[in-house]
Amino acid sequence: MVERSVYILGVRVDDITTEETLSQLEHFIQEGGPHQVATVNPEFVMAAQHNTVFCVTINEADLALPDGSGLLWASRVLGKPLRERVTGSDTVPLIARLAAQKGYRLFLLGAAPGVAEAAAGVLQAQNPGLVIAGTFAGSPRPEDEDAIIARIRLAAPDLLFVAYGAPNQDLWIRRNKERLGVAVCMGVGGTLDYIAGIVPRAPNWMRRSGLEWLYRLIRQPWRWRRMIRLPLFTLQVLAQRLRANE
Ligand code: UDP
Repeated sequence: MVERSVYILGVRVDDITTEETLSQLEHFIQEGGPHQVATVNPEFVMAAQHNTVFCVTINEADLALPDGSGLLWASRVLGKPLRERVTGSDTVPLIARLAAQKGYRLFLLGAAPGVAEAAAGVLQAQNPGLVIAGTFAGSPRPEDEDAIIARIRLAAPDLLFVAYGAPNQDLWIRRNKERLGVAVCMGVGGTLDYIAGIVPRAPNWMRRSGLEWLYRLIRQPWRWRRMIRLPLFTLQVLAQRLRANE
């Protein structure tokens, strides 16, 4: 299991590298049984402050990946630095490469109709031999769950990527993982949109400077509602640090 985690405003974030993540996923698949992977960023942490089920979902996940650069900043402020940022969008293509090598079957669930199919096509073109067990847009509505689960069980994937955005995707996985019969279920947010080329990813220099949030805000201004709480994240992390010093 993960050797070390940092709790940022009560939300768990694992100190894990990309390489360690990939070997941990291999281990989960060999082990079988449902494992949940969350890709945590500061928006998750803020949403979890007033959504207890979401907070518990992250804290009890088998992996809580350090997806947002704000978390690396926070971990340094709190004196427990995370070694590396591990994002869903960078990791999913690497998981697809691993899956092609090892013969693991992938299922892509979520995003707008047609996006999961397009993302699957891109991943297969990059990784000859990759088995896509299935793709489906579906919806995160509870009344659609039984039909989606039946579809996934029939496809029998080893890894399921769920792209319904947070917290819906993570709550969906928590509710359904026991019934799915899938070794690894991972919430991946907008990753399928990136892979399919529907939404462009921030340029490298912006990602390196921790400005990916700004790029996303400029491209998708409706995000301001979710991002408005990010300055509060900064203040609350500083307050956590002060409390720890008392
Ligand atoms: N989505 C969906 N059904 C919904 C809500 C969202 O399929 O009811 C998809 C949406 O199309 C997108 C993904 O969920 O592909 C969420 O993307 P977003 O960028 O909001 O997620 P984030 O990375 O910010 O968590």
